[in-house]
Amino acid sequence: MEKICVAVRVRPSANEESVNGSHWNVESNRISLHKSDGTPISGISFAFDHLFDQECSNAKVYELLTKDIIHAAVEGFNGTAFAYGQTSSGKTFTMNGSENDPGIINRAVRDIFAKIQLTSDREFLIRVSYMEIYNEDINDLFAVEGQKLHIHESLERGVYVAGLREEIVNSADQVLNLIQLGEVNRHFGETNMNARSSRSHTIFRMVIESKAKDSNSSNSSSPDDAIRVSVLNLVDLAGSERIAKTGAGGVRLKEGKHINKSLMVLGNVINKLSEGGKQRGHIPYRDSKLTRILQPALGGNAKTSIICTVAPEEVHIEETKGTLQFASRAKRITNCVQVNEILTDAALLKRQKLEIEELRRKLQGSHAEVLEQEVLKLRNDMLKYELERVKLATELEEERRSNKDREPCIKEQMKMDNHSNLDTFSDYDRSASQDDVKECLDGSIESHSMRQEDTFSTPCLKAVSNVFVARRSQYSTQPDFSPLPDTFSDFADEDTWMKMNKGYMVDLDSLHMTPAVKVQSVPTSEDCSTENYNQEMQNLQRQLKNVIGERDDLKMKYTEQVSFNNQLTREMSELHQEVLRIQEIPQSLLTAVTNCKNIYKDFFLNLENFLPDERSVSAQILSTTSELGTSLFSRLESHLSMAVDGKRPSPENDYSVQEQCNILQKRLNSTISSLVLSDTSTIKDEHREDILGSSKSKGTLGRQIACWKKALENEVQTIKQKHIDMEKELYINNQLLQVSEGKYHSLEREFCLIKEDRDALKQRISSSSEMLTLVTSQKQKVSKDLYTEVQNRKNLEEQIKQFTIAFACRQKSMMSFQNDFKSVLETMKAYNPTSLPKSHGS
Ligand code: ADP
Ligand code: MG
Repeated sequence: MEKICVAVRVRPSANEESVNGSHWNVESNRISLHKSDGTPISGISFAFDHLFDQECSNAKVYELLTKDIIHAAVEGFNGTAFAYGQTSSGKTFTMNGSENDPGIINRAVRDIFAKIQLTSDREFLIRVSYMEIYNEDINDLFAVEGQKLHIHESLERGVYVAGLREEIVNSADQVLNLIQLGEVNRHFGETNMNARSSRSHTIFRMVIESKAKDSNSSNSSSPDDAIRVSVLNLVDLAGSERIAKTGAGGVRLKEGKHINKSLMVLGNVINKLSEGGKQRGHIPYRDSKLTRILQPALGGNAKTSIICTVAPEEVHIEETKGTLQFASRAKRITNCVQVNEILTDAALLKRQKLEIEELRRKLQGSHAEVLEQEVLKLRNDMLKYELERVKLATELEEERRSNKDREPCIKEQMKMDNHSNLDTFSDYDRSASQDDVKECLDGSIESHSMRQEDTFSTPCLKAVSNVFVARRSQYSTQPDFSPLPDTFSDFADEDTWMKMNKGYMVDLDSLHMTPAVKVQSVPTSEDCSTENYNQEMQNLQRQLKNVIGERDDLKMKYTEQVSFNNQLTREMSELHQEVLRIQEIPQSLLTAVTNCKNIYKDFFLNLENFLPDERSVSAQILSTTSELGTSLFSRLESHLSMAVDGKRPSPENDYSVQEQCNILQKRLNSTISSLVLSDTSTIKDEHREDILGSSKSKGTLGRQIACWKKALENEVQTIKQKHIDMEKELYINNQLLQVSEGKYHSLEREFCLIKEDRDALKQRISSSSEMLTLVTSQKQKVSKDLYTEVQNRKNLEEQIKQFTIAFACRQKSMMSFQNDFKSVLETMKAYNPTSLPKSHGS
């Protein structure tokens, strides 16, 4: 938020003699009313941002009050400076200045161009317009025909004056000359210019557009890609005196009412805005044209300064008080200022390019989704380009149609030019008024030829590309300014000329005109370029179709690839699951074997516990068997744990297990047989020692041993069986593993193939996107050419219009010359009726 900067300027007193009554006292930034004896009158004292006394120059006013706003305008901020005060208080002096002390407008214009010169990193396009609000009518001061213009509002341009002429300018001198021309127009048809100037508001407006230089070449999308557009208003308001004081009646009364209406609404707006915050309510901008045009400057998006001029004379005390009250209310207004930027097509394109790059980068990570997104994006882009192409074709068609409509009109104009070429112009060379007209005409032709140059250059030879100028000027003037064929023909008809010449009948055949050569050459080149456009458009269309076809092929292939990919992925995941299951088998077998081993051990431990003597043969047999079994189980365990770790058991290992089994079998058999033998000998010995002895217990032991032997044999058999089963299972598992491995390798190969396919697809996509870029650039070229053509056509129309105006002026001066001539003739006739030849008589 930024406060409006308000200053008061006191003009030098008109009376030479010293002031005897009440007077205004200026001290630093405060102005107060003092009595004749020098004592201040209470309650009438005002402080402002700046107070400029009678000696203060326009240079100082500009430096302290306006300079910052002007510089900010070059940087993209809207700016407004306006002068408020009663008639003859010095508003126009402040805004326009004098020869020795140029005013704010002059200084601002020069300062802007100087600042542009120093800004080397941006290119500028500056347009100026000059309007007057008189009796609530908006008149264009750059164009005589631009009377009673209307205010429009659009989303894109905000509030604007439709049909207001905007001149593209490239030097301060050019602008100042245009302003002078505007002043001349302001006086057109007016008898009392001073009276009018104090009753009309004038708004001089500069639209400053700029963009960063070389922004197209950089790859980054920075805010510099945007175009900055700022509007600078320099306003000289009408006098704010009361109507009663002017003692006006009739026309003056009407003027006064309008002035008071505008200024009254301005006052209301300022009042409302100065209330601030929540109490504000509705701001009546729409109640007058002045406030509507100045809306952004008042409580909107603009840096604003108001210079209130006051007259020091005692007779104006009331008016001065009113002005100071207005000024102190205005001081309370705050605006919200920001740089105005437009994101251009180029900036948008650049942003999209970056997105595509990003996607491409992601694509290298080989995600099918990204690939799909890329294809979708390409499709969208293609659709967009197709739409743009259709739009361009329609525009071209419309242009061609309007050409056809205009053709008869141009032909008529050419016929008239040719006609006027037949007559000589020498008779009028002596006429001073004619010289003026010629100058004016030359000037206009010069300015137009300048506009048709290849490049627009801002001061210090900063070339601005045609595209920027064409596009921006089209943006700013379309569709309100370009004269339509209809309005043009209306303007060129005899009625309008009659009106312009205040009732004189115009004899077209007797008119003389400097030929406008350029007009004639236009239609042929136009036809030719139209044909070229057509061809180029057709080429583009063909290319686009090819690219679309190729893209569709790619899309189909891509879809097939995606489904194939999905199928493969599914199969792979199934295989993976199976491999996992197979890999789990050795682990479960290992657990089973460990369990068996533990059970086996427990069993033998229990058996050993039953034996009374640890050194007995049975105990030995048991321990040997247990040892052998345990070693067999350990061997199996190691075998399986190797499988768990992913190592393949070697055939030697298999062999050694088998071998060990056999050895164990043999050892067991031999132990058992030795046990049987020892048992037999023991029985014999005992029989000898004790014949009667324990034959009963011998029988029991034998049965027990046989039983154990049987049990052991069974046990060994079971273990052997289990071992064989495990071996079989292991074998099957190994087979399965081998098959899975084979499948895995083939899948890997397929995956490589798919990868290659995908790379090829990527290659094709990148080549088609290159093609797309090519098509886009060609399309841009065509649209550029189209814009230039449209611009040329506008210039042509402008020229014709100027030509017509100049024609009318010349005709008018001719008529006056004719009248003068007639009156001189009459006078001569009256003085010397006999000496005149008869043919000259009436
Ligand atoms: P306004 O535009 O407010 O009606 P003008 O700017 O036309 O008033 O000023 C009226 C007269 O006073 C002009 O002759 C002008 O030259 C003169 N004048 C105004 N202000 C000054 C000033 N600060 N210094 C010198 N002359 C001034
Ligand atoms: Mg004035």
